[in-house]
Amino acid sequence: MQSLRFKAIDNLTTSEPGVNVEGAPKITGIFGENVFTLKTAREFLSDEAYKSLAASTKTGHKIERNLANQIAAGMRQWAETKGVTHFTHWFQPLTGTSAEKHDSFFTLKSDGTALDTFDGDALVQQEPDASSFPSGGLRATFEARGYTAWDPTSPAFIMHIGQGLTLCIPTIFVSYTGESLDYKAPLIKSIESLNKAAVDVCHYFDRNVSKVYATLGWEQEYFVVDEGLANARPDIVMTGRTVFGHTPAKGQQMEDHYFGSIPERVYAFMRDFEYESYRLGIPLRTRHNEVAPSQFECAPIFEELNLAVDHNTLLMDVMSRVAKRHQLKVLLHEKPFAGINGSGKHNNWSLATDTGVNLLAPGKTPKTNLMFLAFFVNTIKAVYDHADLLRAAIASAGNDHRLGANEAPPAIISAYIGQYLYKVLDEVESRVGDKFDEQDEVMLKLDIHKSIPELLLDNTDRNRTSPFAFTGNKFEFRAVGSNANCANGMIILNTIMAETLSNFKKEVDSLIEKGDKKEVAIMQVIKKYIKDSKKVLFEGDGYSEEWQKEAAKRGLPNLKTTPVALDPLITKKAKDLFEKHNVYSHSELEARHEIELEKYVKTVQIEGRVIGDLAGNHIIPAAIRYQNVLIANIKGLKDIGVKAEAYAAQLEILNAISEHLNKVKSLAEDMTEARKAANALTDTREKAIAYCDKVKPFFDEIRYHVDKLELLVDDTEWELPKYRELLFLR
Ligand code: ADP
Ligand code: MG
Repeated sequence: MQSLRFKAIDNLTTSEPGVNVEGAPKITGIFGENVFTLKTAREFLSDEAYKSLAASTKTGHKIERNLANQIAAGMRQWAETKGVTHFTHWFQPLTGTSAEKHDSFFTLKSDGTALDTFDGDALVQQEPDASSFPSGGLRATFEARGYTAWDPTSPAFIMHIGQGLTLCIPTIFVSYTGESLDYKAPLIKSIESLNKAAVDVCHYFDRNVSKVYATLGWEQEYFVVDEGLANARPDIVMTGRTVFGHTPAKGQQMEDHYFGSIPERVYAFMRDFEYESYRLGIPLRTRHNEVAPSQFECAPIFEELNLAVDHNTLLMDVMSRVAKRHQLKVLLHEKPFAGINGSGKHNNWSLATDTGVNLLAPGKTPKTNLMFLAFFVNTIKAVYDHADLLRAAIASAGNDHRLGANEAPPAIISAYIGQYLYKVLDEVESRVGDKFDEQDEVMLKLDIHKSIPELLLDNTDRNRTSPFAFTGNKFEFRAVGSNANCANGMIILNTIMAETLSNFKKEVDSLIEKGDKKEVAIMQVIKKYIKDSKKVLFEGDGYSEEWQKEAAKRGLPNLKTTPVALDPLITKKAKDLFEKHNVYSHSELEARHEIELEKYVKTVQIEGRVIGDLAGNHIIPAAIRYQNVLIANIKGLKDIGVKAEAYAAQLEILNAISEHLNKVKSLAEDMTEARKAANALTDTREKAIAYCDKVKPFFDEIRYHVDKLELLVDDTEWELPKYRELLFLR
């Protein structure tokens, strides 16, 4: 029987290029057409209901029940004009994807008449069967109730799944007792906490600011491979990555993929998912090839953080669905292929005021620059004080393959600000004296506004090896995993920023009370913060060995694996911090910690099983089949009486195969033993550490021998599509 591998290759040569989006609709013509935007709401709602929704969109204020009924009715009416029959509460559980439970508008009255209905209750709250979502022990299984509750700040949208159309209501997901079980609930809380702290600091400079909101523009990296080939790789199907595979003759060394032309089949796919994204209101802007073969990136125009997170979650879903239409598979795993770059997500984060000012953009006058400097230095201080939490926020089994593995930012959290700003901070630190006159002079002298924009927005002043880089008018958190929910890192960043800003205000206020002029006080605290947190600034090569040593000298944490990188989440410092800012209660933090550990264990456990299965069912049998060919050949040669030299090569290959084969088998057995030992541990952290230190090391060892076998065994016997096929055939 022909193996899946060769069938897939055959299909590739005969298959049509992907389905194309017909014509090229103008983006402005379709943008947001499947979203219940305020503009749409205007059409379908009464004045009163519209006003209530609009106010709630801006402030998150509660909507009264009778108005909720009206809004729900309007939403249904709108959705029905588009052919929608079902609705769902759409939420983001901690499993990392989005979840839905569809209900139809259809219902029966007591007299049996059929009726379509969607009322305020159904809009505002729903009770999905939540027992199978991770809760980290918060929700005992007998009390498997979780509630989803409408988030009016993120608009409802219509999702096309095949022929089906569903009205999706973005919601938070909380337990019966009110603890958050998702990413959105704590995200919204952290946004609120940051808003308060940032508005307070803004008031030193501008009393008109009444709201500060975080902005996010994510850059999403991903791989695209042929679906048939991917399906012939049980490892890709089960784990999203390849556990075996010899590096192809050509990898990314030619560096010809980056910004090269996009292959036609992938291009058709991109246009298709962009089309779907535009209709959903996701403002995609950029698409290009990435460094590795078959690797790509897309990025939107930045948006308010909560909405941007929803849009990224939605996009990952849309991409995967649309890919199927093109017989392609999107790999969002952080490291689908060994030997070439993995994928990340860059979270570009900034703060904007309701008066239209980007607080991380250098201003036009010395005074607005002081505001910029305050927020800029506070961010650096936050990163320095809580680097361990930022590291914890991006820890996952997949991201462990990247962080510190010489291609992605290292596991050490540092900040890059560019030479120019580095000098500015240096000057502030060394030249700001105690007299205001002098400081005023310094501020004027720094004259940031004239040179920063050009200097920093210029791509040459970028450091691609830094996990947290200032890029002219925003910070870019570059160490996030491609598969991660953006919220995880953003919750932490918002909270540590809120904490730093509120301390900043306290310190400034106390200097003012002692008689300092406002600007003097601000400058003094800025100076102090620069001094305190300078150690976290690093302008050099983050991948280098020297940085590891230097960072250790500076006392910066360098936690390389997930089980220990998660520890900072449950320290007293962290618990008090998150409780103070009303983001997580102690038990919520403990639950998150537990869930992340469990996710880690399960991921590595599944990978271990897949490696064992593949070794036993694919690799070893293929090796034996080829050995039999060799044996027959050697026997035959012997039979006709040729000299031993004539089959020396065959013997050598035969022996080499035996050696590797034996190794694969015995290592796989040892790995199973290590897994059993790990499974026997009851403490989740200990179990995770055992999986990390005792089980995972076998992966590379087994792989080494399997990859050698791939080189030795006849290509026609090898059932797993090879890297060269996965990465280069389309
Ligand atoms: P690159 O980093 O590759 O040069 P861009 O400069 O285009 O890319 O920016 C990357 C992302 O940063 C985009 O999604 C963009 O919208 C976003 N971005 C720009 N300004 C801000 C901001 N003030 N807040 C948040 N994100 C922003
Ligand atoms: Mg970028």
